[in-house]
Amino acid sequence: MTNSADIPSTPPGEPVNASFRVLPARNSLDSRSSLPGESAPRKYKAYNLSNFRRLSQMSRLSAEQLFAIEVVGRVLPFKTNNYVVEELIDWENVPDDPAFILNFPQREMLEPSHFDEIAWLLQTGASPERIQEKVKEIRYTLNPHPDGQLEYNLPMLAGEELRGMQHKYRETVLFFPDQGQTCHAYCTFCFRWPQFAGMEGLKFAMQDPGLLVQYLRQHPEVTDVLFTGGDPLVMKSSILAAYIDPLLEADLPTLRTIRIGTKVFGYWPYRLISDDDADDLLALFRKIVASGKHLAIMVHFNHPGELETWAARQAIALTRQTGAEIRTQSPLLAHVNDQPEMWIKMWTEQVGLGCVPYYMFVARDTGAQHYFGVPLVTAWKIFRDAYRQVSGLARTVHGPCMSAFPGKVQVLGVNEIHGEKVIALQFLQGRNPDWVRRPFFAQYDERAIWLDELKPAFGEPAFFFEKSGRS
Ligand code: SF4
Repeated sequence: MTNSADIPSTPPGEPVNASFRVLPARNSLDSRSSLPGESAPRKYKAYNLSNFRRLSQMSRLSAEQLFAIEVVGRVLPFKTNNYVVEELIDWENVPDDPAFILNFPQREMLEPSHFDEIAWLLQTGASPERIQEKVKEIRYTLNPHPDGQLEYNLPMLAGEELRGMQHKYRETVLFFPDQGQTCHAYCTFCFRWPQFAGMEGLKFAMQDPGLLVQYLRQHPEVTDVLFTGGDPLVMKSSILAAYIDPLLEADLPTLRTIRIGTKVFGYWPYRLISDDDADDLLALFRKIVASGKHLAIMVHFNHPGELETWAARQAIALTRQTGAEIRTQSPLLAHVNDQPEMWIKMWTEQVGLGCVPYYMFVARDTGAQHYFGVPLVTAWKIFRDAYRQVSGLARTVHGPCMSAFPGKVQVLGVNEIHGEKVIALQFLQGRNPDWVRRPFFAQYDERAIWLDELKPAFGEPAFFFEKSGRS
């Protein structure tokens, strides 16, 4: 999938595993010529259920922990890589380390009954077919495609559904390039896990950028195209260019911004530094910028450690030199980043590196939400506590925000109105643009973790947007 050349992961003299904790000097970030000169090539290596036991670090885990990885990794996608293992995870802090939890399945990520069912099948030597059947059954109970994505957001062209694109908000179209529907490592909380879990009929993917161009010609209201996945930057640069070049050549005046959603800065920053075609990727970024389109790289950072390695900082610096803008986002996740201090550190560090904090999401209602979910009221308190302690430049961030069926709903806070304690909310994006920025109120509920668990305040029978129906 990805290759690399001659660039080591850490500055000379720094032990590999220490890069999580020791920040490199800022002046080592300035240009390609300042790369450390070690000769050991940095090759991407994936670890999954078939080979993770070969990692020497696994000797730190108990037999129960290793078995739990085997069990949960059957149901939720499991993949990590040598960068995450060697440079992000602080093995002295395992099992509580956020990078470890982010990549290695934990027993509690499955409901106890589901865990026990798979464990029993494995322990009793059940056939692979029998295990697969049970895995499939459990996956379908985990709300694999939340918020009506399969049914409601599909654009149409000449009477045909464009599976592989989504058009939910008027100005923005999502495009899922076929070869970009995987990632360099899999987040255990992943909200798009059916993209790579091999669930029949549930994957979005498209190969023909021509259909995208045709669609954009017919929809001048679309100003932004978001290439997403999976991770589009797992693709070879030439393949990514084959999707983007037609957009540039089509000379669409209404298309203003090309966005690329990615986690490479957190999972494989060498993609922009030393992979065989890293230079081609940076050249593609420069070409997009030179065409007059705005290029926004939408980067997923989940915890502050992801910003501390030399490679992540170098990848950010190189990307910014192309004229691309980096915007950052993450869900708020129990066990990973549910402390205000972590967000203060992330947003402050991101601004210092020239990135723009964009969203704090709430963990979506899919997969292991019961493990990662944080109640909406707690999420608001964490957000507020962090937000009030960062500079104005970091307050570009929106949150906490649910990407729910009717739209992106932000929790504004808790208050008391006419003697009733309420949660105030608003749409940042809506299926109906008229819903945006209209405050609405829910009954106070300190356990609710998602929009559909909230009830309207003041005795109203439904929220205002529900009166409009699901269309
Ligand atoms: S990077 Fe995104 S798509 Fe990939 S595993 Fe993580 S959340 Fe899922």
